[in-house]
Amino acid sequence: MGMGLLIDATRCIGCGACSSACKEQNKLPGQVEEVLTAYTWTTVHEHEGLNVRRLCMHCEVPTCASVCPVAALKKTPDGPVVYDAERCMGCRYCMMACPFEIPKYQWDRPVPVVGKCIMCAGRVKDGKPTACAEACQYGATTFGKKEDLIWEARTRIRQKPGDYVNQIYGLTEAGGTSVMMISSVPFEKLGLKSNLPADPPAMRTWQVLSNIPDFVGVWGVFLYGVHWITARREAVAKAANHTNGREDRS
Ligand code: SF4
Ligand code: SF4
Ligand code: SF4
Repeated sequence: MGMGLLIDATRCIGCGACSSACKEQNKLPGQVEEVLTAYTWTTVHEHEGLNVRRLCMHCEVPTCASVCPVAALKKTPDGPVVYDAERCMGCRYCMMACPFEIPKYQWDRPVPVVGKCIMCAGRVKDGKPTACAEACQYGATTFGKKEDLIWEARTRIRQKPGDYVNQIYGLTEAGGTSVMMISSVPFEKLGLKSNLPADPPAMRTWQVLSNIPDFVGVWGVFLYGVHWITARREAVAKAANHTNGREDRS
């Protein structure tokens, strides 16, 4: 089952220590932004009197990885869905496919890469908690084995049924996710999608391609892509100021 995060919206005070710790851990430039961007991988917003974190959910069967033609995104056995900027060809299919609308693009860079939470994959591999969980002083973000987190979430709900809706968000959504949330307010009122099927979205590269208005045919894209990916990989590798998008940042 791997590792995961349990986010308890009833405990979050909205201090933003998690967002700041993420910036520092991943050497993301600039201040924490209002919305997720390629440089802000987690935000905290108030909804219905609760503070709600937003970040990659680290799906068990990630659609972003299923649609990526060059396997730049992958689910690791530890739990994190990681990203390899040097493989990425910049097609942005992952951004179109993600059911949670998480991956963002570096629109301001000449050779952009995608940015999203990587669940501190390097730290997790070394047996450490994610930086955001370590920074949270209020028990609102907890790192641990996914099975232990499910048990913990069920225990909190059972012990204080008046304080929680009887649901663990992420247990079944989009096929289940390594990041899970519990709350006193129904999740759809917290800006989270409530209608996601329990099966992982069976989206594949060709389905995303066919949604692109100027689709010129898979083979045209493929042949052009072979040439283009090669040039892009060289550019990404050379980008001296490239501090973002690496798989292991710890
Ligand atoms: S939430 Fe989106 S970006 Fe994150 S693993 Fe799932 S599909 Fe990929
Ligand atoms: S798990 Fe790591 S990369 Fe993801 S939001 Fe937390 S600190 Fe950032
Ligand atoms: S550090 Fe903890 S309490 Fe502070 S905003 Fe993040 S999750 Fe909420």
